[in-house]
Amino acid sequence: MTLSFGRPYLAIPGPSVMPDRVLRAMHRPGPNIYEGELVEMMPDLIESLRTVARTRHNVAIYIANGHGAWEAALANVLSPGEKVLSLCTGRFGHGWTEMAEALGAQVQIEDFGLRAPVAPARVEAALLADPDHSIRAVLLTHVDTSTSIRNDVAAVRAALDAAGHPALLLVDCIASMGCDRFEMDAWGVDVAITASQKGLMVPPGVAFVFFSEKAAQARTKVTRVSRYWDWTDRANPKVFYQYFGGTAPTHHLYGLRESLDMIAEEGGMEAVWARHAQLARVVWAAFEAWASEGPLELNVADRTHRSCAVTSVRIGAPNGTALRRWTEEKAGITLGIGLGMNTDEDPDADGFFRLGHMGHLNASMVMGALSSIQSGLIALGIPHGPGALDAAALVISEA
Ligand SMILES: *Cc1c(COP(=O)(O)O)cnc(C)c1O
Repeated sequence: MTLSFGRPYLAIPGPSVMPDRVLRAMHRPGPNIYEGELVEMMPDLIESLRTVARTRHNVAIYIANGHGAWEAALANVLSPGEKVLSLCTGRFGHGWTEMAEALGAQVQIEDFGLRAPVAPARVEAALLADPDHSIRAVLLTHVDTSTSIRNDVAAVRAALDAAGHPALLLVDCIASMGCDRFEMDAWGVDVAITASQKGLMVPPGVAFVFFSEKAAQARTKVTRVSRYWDWTDRANPKVFYQYFGGTAPTHHLYGLRESLDMIAEEGGMEAVWARHAQLARVVWAAFEAWASEGPLELNVADRTHRSCAVTSVRIGAPNGTALRRWTEEKAGITLGIGLGMNTDEDPDADGFFRLGHMGHLNASMVMGALSSIQSGLIALGIPHGPGALDAAALVISEA
């Protein structure tokens, strides 16, 4: 029989779980887009977004998904033919790279594979090999959602500084913002991007680009920026519609206001990061126990390089796909596919799955997810180490 009836649980990892409060805030008639409440809520909304990104600098909003934020960031700082250094630790790093290539940039890729973080020494060496400073921007994915590798942004900043290189540091925080600690200003990030549907707990459809004064300066040197992607008016609007380059994403803005209020009520970013870190340790305790026997293996061996928002797991084909199907059909939880993990022997990445643990998530949800995975391992006869659920419960009890 199936035990999947009840509230479905999407743990794929993004879009993440949407809080009822966010959904309720969106469930309303259309507001006036010329004056009144919606227009008046913008200054506070921008201020709250700055708090989440830990920046005093500029915010531009786009009606877009994360791919839109990728393009927006690049379009404002690069002219065709200019050089970019792209640091890749998974599918999303390569995706942003391809976007830069499509915009006509000359991209130099430093690929760190699928299981290790960016090595700052290699970044420094690549920048030192560019003595005339033709590299305009360095692209870094904070958390690559495909591999669950978390990169050390401050260490990459230090590598730019050590090389004395003036390139802008652009960071994809789509999976990490609101989950893993990220300090835009303190870490010397010039452009940080995110989207609504992950740590911000709002349906997909709005994306954010945060940019420093140095990045704003770089924008003035770019000869042509498409009217839609140009961040200048969006960050300094004289009229309300300029925030969005057209009609506002009305209902998303109400949902976002609610989610930002929820973050503040929890105690702000420190509290949100601490919850994610503790729940990640719960997840890791279980996976490390399962991994002690049988085919299951965490993609990232070292805890210090793992994201607190998503966990990528190797389990051998066809176990990954079988387990995902089982948990969805029998337990009502949808796990993530093995994105960018396909090989010649496993063309559909059937040997991988991911567990999202970002955003609107508490201890009982994590235990529900882990227990469902345990049930699936048993039902499918996939060998695994003992004690995973006890180990997870212990970490919760210590919180
Ligand atoms: C989800 C994600 C993206 C892509 O976002 P879309 O909304 O699917 O366009 C890019 N980078 C990272 C790190 C992500 O997690």
